[in-house]
This record gives sequence, structure tokens and C-alpha cells, in this order.
Amino acid sequence: MADIKQFVSNLQDFLEYKKEEGFQTLEVSRETLTAIRNQGSEVRSQGSGVRGQESGIRGQGSVPYSAPRPAPAATAAPQSSVRVTGKTPEEIAGQIRICTACPLHAARKNTVPGEGNPARPDILFVGEGPGADEDMQGRPFVGAAGQLLDKMIEAMGYKREEVFIANIVKCRPPNNRVPLPEEMNACVPYLKAQIALIKPKIIVALGKTAVQGLLQEDVAITKFRGTWCHYEGIDLMPTYHPAYLLRSPGKKGEAWADLKAVLAKLGKEPPAKKT
Ligand code: URA
Repeated sequence: MADIKQFVSNLQDFLEYKKEEGFQTLEVSRETLTAIRNQGSEVRSQGSGVRGQESGIRGQGSVPYSAPRPAPAATAAPQSSVRVTGKTPEEIAGQIRICTACPLHAARKNTVPGEGNPARPDILFVGEGPGADEDMQGRPFVGAAGQLLDKMIEAMGYKREEVFIANIVKCRPPNNRVPLPEEMNACVPYLKAQIALIKPKIIVALGKTAVQGLLQEDVAITKFRGTWCHYEGIDLMPTYHPAYLLRSPGKKGEAWADLKAVLAKLGKEPPAKKT
């Protein structure tokens, strides 16, 4: 009985996540069902690729969505061993470069500390973690999702170098899976130190992982987006991750509404569209 309950709970968790990614139906193979039965939340992270990858879930029969269930809070991961000593963005980046605080360091090509205007920028965009392109170049948001983020930044009237862009984790998770709670906890002191140093006027949290990493709240981004939150006294706007928008372009209007709310908070308006 306990087994079935756990299975149903894991399945709900998984389906809710796919729904957030914009899927209306899923075809689920026997292997996937077995994997969900055994390790639902790991399947959720490994098999679903939140950064514009195909889920890889194919097979028999469509599975309808179950009713949403509040996701469990991300609490249990251990405290970070990281103590950030850097006093400038460059010093923090140097410390990240030699960091071995979590297993993600083992497979990285480059660390991705973040980049942009470090002197009280209007906006800090926070993503999840580097993908393959970012790992290769050591720069955040340079792949397909990054190109969309660039367009979003431009539509708001900024150049990329005028804002700051960073991630919750600074090394690429294998296969672009969602970072594990222990990886996020290990790494997040770097981002927190960067925020304390650069003092952005507003933080835009791109997707669920960014919200979770900064606010320690496990939320459904589809419901949470567009609602003002606060991180250490700084206004924080949760919105969709650009990778999600690439998969679900119908949600771009909601994301744009969130970005316009950010501009309004800054006392600005979006620039007139170029003709
Ligand atoms: N997705 C992210 O969350 N961050 C990046 O830097 C690139 C893709």
C-alpha cells in the first residue's frame, strides 16, 4: 500500500512538472513507468530536460494529467561548504574557477560565474545552470535560450552588458538535467555573494530552479510567475525560463507582462518597436 502511495505521489510530481513545461499529453513507455515507480523525482530531472531538449519519453498510451499537488519543499540538502571570500566579481569568479564543493566540478569544461554590469545594474537575470554552449564558452546564456534572453533584454530597452546575468549553479549538470538540491545548496553562496556585491535593483528569476535556489520555495512557476517576491530586500520577479518559452511560445505574452511589470517598477517603459 505504501508502495502504491509513493508511486502515485512520484507520478503526480512528474506530471505536474511536465505540465509546467507545457506538455498537454505524454506518451510513457514501460521503462519510464518503472523508473517513475522507483525514483520519480530523479526521472523528473534526468528525463525531462528543461532547457529546450526533447523529453525522450515515447512509447505506449497517453497519460492524462492528474490534479496539481503542492510540491515538497526543498529543505533536506546539506549546508554548503563554500565560504565566499572574494571582494570583487573577478575574485568571486576566481574562487568559482577552482571550486570542488560539489560533484559537478568533475565534468565541467569551464565554470560559468556570470557576466554583465557589476555596478548596481537595474536588473539581474538568474537562470538555472550552464548548458553545453555555456560550459564550452564559460559564459551564461549563450545558446538558444540565451538568444531568446538577449531578445527579451533588448525588448526591455537594455543591452546585454547593461544588466547582469548569472545562474544558480556555476557548473554544467550532466545532460542538462535540473541541478540536485545538494548541488544548488553547495553553489548558491556564490550567487548570493554576487548579489550582495553588485546590488541589482531588481532580480528576475528565470524559472522554477532560480526561484527555488534564491527563495528556498518549491513552486509551480506557472502559478507563481508574475507575483512580486523579495530576496534580501530586493524585489524579485519570477517568470518563465527562456528555454521553456522556446518550447511553449504561447506563454511569451505572460513573460512579457512580467518584464513590463519589472520596467514599471523601475519607472521605465519599453522602447517603441523598431519598424
Ligand atoms: N540555461 C540556464 O539556465 N542558464 C544558462 O546559462 C543557459 C541556459
